[in-house]
Amino acid sequence: MNSNEIAAQLEFFRDIGVDNLDVQTVGAIGEAQARAERERESAKPQEMRAASIGEAQARQRAASIGEAQARQRAASINDSPGAHKAPLQLEDIRAEIGDCRRCKLAPSRTNIVFGSGNPHAELVFVGEAPGYDEDQQGQPFVGRAGQLLTKIIESINFKREDVYICNVLKCRPPENRNPEPDEVASCNPFLRKQLTAIRPRIVCCLGTFAAQTVLQTAAPISRLRGKFFDMDGMRVIATFHPAYLLRSPEKKREVWEDMKQIRAELFRLRS
Ligand code: URA
Repeated sequence: MNSNEIAAQLEFFRDIGVDNLDVQTVGAIGEAQARAERERESAKPQEMRAASIGEAQARQRAASIGEAQARQRAASINDSPGAHKAPLQLEDIRAEIGDCRRCKLAPSRTNIVFGSGNPHAELVFVGEAPGYDEDQQGQPFVGRAGQLLTKIIESINFKREDVYICNVLKCRPPENRNPEPDEVASCNPFLRKQLTAIRPRIVCCLGTFAAQTVLQTAAPISRLRGKFFDMDGMRVIATFHPAYLLRSPEKKREVWEDMKQIRAELFRLRS
């Protein structure tokens, strides 16, 4: 961890009222994480290691393939008899979305916000929908809520680029209103495909919409958060949305409890 990351992590701990952390504890968390990561890497076959090259290289690859070619491949994979056996890659899914006009959000959006991060992430965060900053930049969680999400991620010793971050909706609802059922219905298949392509160990849903959409339930977030559910070979947990934490900072402590559960579950699943 560099000094900025340590500062962000300590700031989040201070924000949530954790007052008994010493430098040794923070260091031990980091070392344990790094050790687990090294063990996981060395246990992988060589070709898989080559696959976990991280976002920069994946992005380069996506660019070099080119959108047209990826779209063609997506189409042929979808049409082929063994389609269910060949999960699409993220760039194929992005190509399939194209310049999407499937729902009524298209005319008012600036950019489609597909998602960002490690295409082989162990941990995926799913939010609700892009806000103003995300719509402008085409990247998820880059506004104030996004800055808090980054601190939350760093509090369990991940970097933002280690995880994958996306939303239920890929386009901003006008005035940040709640997603509507027809919009969720149009976009949800792409979120499902993203999760199938990444196959993370854990999916963390941020807030009510993400939790209800991913878990296909109408239960309120107060009943869903802080527990693991099993879905298609992934462990799914919900926590409060960072934008809600900005309005209700006293809820940060519960998010910290959820993050500790995620960290412990990842260690358990890796061993
Ligand atoms: N809120 C979300 O749910 N997603 C974003 O990308 C930004 C804010």
